[in-house]
Amino acid sequence: MNIHEYQARDILRAHGIPVPPGEIATSPAEAEEAARRFGGSVVVKAQVHAGGRGKAGGVKLAETPAGAREKAEAILGMAIKGITVGKVLVAPAEDIASEAYAGIVMDRANKCDTFMVSPEGGVDIEEVAATMPERIKKVRIDPRYGLLPHQAAAMGYFLYEDGGVARQAAAIMRQLYEAYLASGATLAEINPLIVNPAGEVKAIDAKMNIDDSALFRLPEVEALRDLDAEDPAETRARDAGLSYVKLDGSVGCCVNGAGLAMATMDLVKYYGGEPANFLDIGGSSNPAKVITALELITEDPNVESILFNIFGGITRCDDVADGIVAATEQMEIAPPITIRLTGTNDEKGV
Ligand code: GDP
Ligand code: MN
Repeated sequence: MNIHEYQARDILRAHGIPVPPGEIATSPAEAEEAARRFGGSVVVKAQVHAGGRGKAGGVKLAETPAGAREKAEAILGMAIKGITVGKVLVAPAEDIASEAYAGIVMDRANKCDTFMVSPEGGVDIEEVAATMPERIKKVRIDPRYGLLPHQAAAMGYFLYEDGGVARQAAAIMRQLYEAYLASGATLAEINPLIVNPAGEVKAIDAKMNIDDSALFRLPEVEALRDLDAEDPAETRARDAGLSYVKLDGSVGCCVNGAGLAMATMDLVKYYGGEPANFLDIGGSSNPAKVITALELITEDPNVESILFNIFGGITRCDDVADGIVAATEQMEIAPPITIRLTGTNDEKGV
């Protein structure tokens, strides 16, 4: 699950990280009001689930409340990576002496959480990794011990020469890791982490991704879900108990089990096709799920054919077949469907 910058800022602030205050506005007038309350220069920032807002024109400085209104007018309604901006964050503008990067990711390859820090902040970390990898320090966190004080200190001193500044940064690293753990995050990123002319370290951007599988135990995090910012098809899939990710190809896939779903996508690609989606109908058998799955697949105009690949274990092939039959009775399905049913009750299903 993605959350917005302003929500991630709230989480970081709650864990003690210095984050400037901010207010959400959904209209230019509200942005002007917020800017007036803060006084002085403000920054107006698009709140969408996409990075690179600065480059796309979604982050603008304004010196006056009237200016904030103008900037909000320009940003609200614009599209960033195909997502329409419906709200902006208004925050007091910070003076920046330097920008750094600090982030934690769930590092599947190394089976641990890994910190990455770089004094090259404000730009894509992928770009830094490609062009000057020596400017990135990676620190792996042993899940038995968590982030150790010396690791946090080493990151602080990698970023900053000044001891006082480095120690502030080290404290922020510990707080960032706590925020990451407490929120069930798979990614927590501050870019940029700034030092202002007074030598204070602050986070002026925040990005967090949350592990969907952690949400059942974190209702307060689940409550941050913004349905307006999510793909409606993916929302419907989730409500139906399907795991669905839309892709760009033309072969609609309907599979049971995440592993088989991925193997099926590989197979489609191996034979020169492109999958239109990842879709896992899950382990249990339920004809209703199959109907929703076929609705989602056929609503995608790129789909030219549909492939069912069902390996029945707990899933019963006859239930899946019932779902397919019911769906074809309920709706017009134009693309040809190729169906493989094997395993539990396959003969009955066929
Ligand atoms: P992103 O492009 O989506 O990552 O959005 P950011 O919040 O990181 O903003 C992009 C850039 O805008 C930052 O790297 C800064 O250089 C600049 N910026 C953002 N907020 C401020 C601010 O308060 N003051 C100043 N001077 N620049 C800012
Ligand atoms: Mn940023």
